[in-house]
Amino acid sequence: MNIFLTLILFYIGAAIGSFLSVVIYRHKHNKKGIFTGRSSCPHCGTALAALDLIPIFSFTAFKGRCRYCRKQISPHYIFIELLTGLVFSLLYWKITFMSFGDIAPYMTFEWGGFFAYLYAAALGSLLMAIFFYDLLYKEIPNIFTYPGIVLGILAAVFGEVIAFNYPAMLFPTIKEILYGLVIAFVVFEGQRLLSKGKWIGLGDSILAYLMAIMLGWKFFVIAIFSAYTFGTIYGLILIATKKATLKSAIPFGPFLVIGTLTAICFGEAILALYATYALI
Ligand SMILES: [Zn+2]
Repeated sequence: MNIFLTLILFYIGAAIGSFLSVVIYRHKHNKKGIFTGRSSCPHCGTALAALDLIPIFSFTAFKGRCRYCRKQISPHYIFIELLTGLVFSLLYWKITFMSFGDIAPYMTFEWGGFFAYLYAAALGSLLMAIFFYDLLYKEIPNIFTYPGIVLGILAAVFGEVIAFNYPAMLFPTIKEILYGLVIAFVVFEGQRLLSKGKWIGLGDSILAYLMAIMLGWKFFVIAIFSAYTFGTIYGLILIATKKATLKSAIPFGPFLVIGTLTAICFGEAILALYATYALI
C-alpha cells in the first residue's frame, strides 16, 4: 500500500470514469462512434477542448457548468469519475502489485499481481458502467455484461492452466464457477419466471451470471446477500421518507454491483468471521 500510488490510480480511475460516462451517453442516444470521435456538450453541441476533459478538475473549476453555454452539467458525470477512482484505489488495496518500503529492495513489483490488477480494473470499469446505466435508464445493456463474461471465462481458464489464484476472490476454480452459475440460474431465473420479469429483468440475470463467473460460488453468495441487504435498507429508507411505495420499481443492478465490490473487498473478512462463529 502506498499513498502516492493510491492517488495516481484514483486519478486514472477518474479518467476511465469520465470515458465511461461518454460511452454510456452515446450508447443511450444511439450516437455513432461509441469509442471514437470528440466529446461535445449535450446542450449546445460545442466540441469539448482538452481542458474540459480533465477529470474532476474541469467539473470543479467550471462549477459543474458548460464553459460555452453555462448550462448545468448533470452531477452524475462527477459521481462516475469519483466512484471509478474509488474502485481503482480499493482494488489496489486488495491487489498490492507494487509497494515501496523502508528496507531494501525499497520497491517491489509483481507482474502476476499487476496483471491481476489490470483484470480487476477492467471488470471494475464494466461494473461502474452497469451501475450508472441501470441507475439512469433502468436497463443493463449487453455491451457491458458480455465483454465481462468473456474476460471472466478467459481469466478462469488461464488461472486454472497456470495455477494462478491471486487474489482468491477474483480467480475461482472452474468448479466454483459452475456452482456459482447453478446458484445464479436458480435464484435469478427463478425470480424472473415467478414475477414474469417484474422483479428481475433479463439484464439483472445476465449480470448475475457475470458475477458468478467472476467470483465463484462462495463470493457470489456473499455478493447476493450484500446486494439484498443494501437494496432492502435503501428501499426502507425510501418508504420511510415517502419517496417510494412497496410497488415502486427500483433498479437492482446498482445493488448487485455494490454487492460484487463488497464481496471483492470484504469477502475474505466475512468468510473468516463466518468460519470463526459459524452463524448458521
Ligand atoms: Zn454547452
